[in-house]
Amino acid sequence: MHQLTLAEIARGLADKKFSSEELTKTLLARIAQLDPQLNSFITVTEDLALEQAKAADARRANGETGALLGAPIAHKDLFCTQGVRTSCASKMLDNFKAPYDATVVAKLAAAGTVTLGKTNMDEFAMGSANESSYYGAVKNPWNLEHVPGGSSGGSAAAVAARLLPAATGTDTGGSIRQPAALTNLTGLKPTYGRVSRWGMIAYASSLDQGGPLARTAEDCAILLQGMAGFDPQDSTSIDEPVPDFSASLNGSLQGLRIGVPKEFFSEGLDARIAELVHNSVKALEKLGAVIKPISLPNMQHAIPAYYVIAPAEASSNLSRFDGVRFGHRCEDPKDLTDLYKRSRAEGFGPEVQRRILVGAYALSAGYYDAYYLQAQKIRRLIKNDFMTAFNEVDIILGPTTPNPAWKIGAKNSDPVSAYLEDVYTITANLAGLPGLSMPAGFVDGLPVGVQLLAPYFQEGRLLNVAHQYQLNTDWHTRSPAGF
Ligand code: GLN
Repeated sequence: MHQLTLAEIARGLADKKFSSEELTKTLLARIAQLDPQLNSFITVTEDLALEQAKAADARRANGETGALLGAPIAHKDLFCTQGVRTSCASKMLDNFKAPYDATVVAKLAAAGTVTLGKTNMDEFAMGSANESSYYGAVKNPWNLEHVPGGSSGGSAAAVAARLLPAATGTDTGGSIRQPAALTNLTGLKPTYGRVSRWGMIAYASSLDQGGPLARTAEDCAILLQGMAGFDPQDSTSIDEPVPDFSASLNGSLQGLRIGVPKEFFSEGLDARIAELVHNSVKALEKLGAVIKPISLPNMQHAIPAYYVIAPAEASSNLSRFDGVRFGHRCEDPKDLTDLYKRSRAEGFGPEVQRRILVGAYALSAGYYDAYYLQAQKIRRLIKNDFMTAFNEVDIILGPTTPNPAWKIGAKNSDPVSAYLEDVYTITANLAGLPGLSMPAGFVDGLPVGVQLLAPYFQEGRLLNVAHQYQLNTDWHTRSPAGF
């Protein structure tokens, strides 16, 4: 039963082949048996899951239907979940039980999903290897010595290991697409504003966006449907009609114009990944797509701009964790300053502290113009590059990551080398565009992803292209040995 996709689960439940309670028990047993190898969960919510599964079965017995009714999922541990620890993988929030549900959690629960637990992640979503968690590193099911990517690495490892069919993630600079690529999943970062950020613990507010991680584009469509939509409680949520994403899957790719930016194939890209990306281009050409070389001339400035803007926003967002209102408080503070200083020094891990320092520096008087303002200007140039490109093409295609999953610990002494792994993903966040990563082959037994980017609110187009590709390839069906 653990091999079933969300779409197959929906059919099985509708045809009464099994109940949500049976499925939930099977998956909870699998998590108990296999997760000690992976460390993909921070909290398993067994009681909540069984209660939700029984309620979903009762709703079905009453004649209700719905693709998510009774479907088991898990949430990245930065979505507030009422009454459940919501830790952001930080010692700071180790003792924090959210007093309310994030909009995404509430919407999915209303659609009938069953929450199996909260998944491991990089602390405060800062990272691309899932090594910075207070609860320890997550292992990649394709090779337990390698990272699963981050920061949504727990969600990715759990879904890739068939502990559950799909999970939520968030993507500030690639944290859905990059772990999807490194674990052979399909992951979608929606347009900024498509999915509510209310109750999603903020890292960099102008970049953060929640989205689905699953094995197929078809399943991403199902999960995104339950997550997307205007939320008056999030002032950056956009009041735009949500289309039927599943209905968009079957469009023909005849005449679809795919732009391939030359900057995506520059120095630093593993030649074996470049070849797999070219193979995916050929596969899409066979389906009728037309390929056009394009250029995104300001891409080289994306990493420096992102690593000013994201830490700047993080330093501001994380100032609320002061030992007074939320989370960790030091023992026996001498005075208020000592309380702030020691609570924060003890509660935040080294990567989070580094980001706060960089961000506070970039925002400080005298440096604001030189760094933050400059980075915002680059952001506009990057957005303009995309707008120009989308005048000529319908979709942009390239690699998701320059390298396959690296060994745990390999980049620990050099944070900048990890930052460089985000080179292909962060431009979509800076511009607010939707992006998707889909499985496209293997290098040394490790999965490789291809990334698709589309104009604002064209998630349906991304899912359409990925679904058609998946009907004609079988990379996404491969599962890691031992799982
Ligand atoms: N790796 C990037 C960072 O560390 C992206 C993280 C994310 O998307 N949450 O900031």
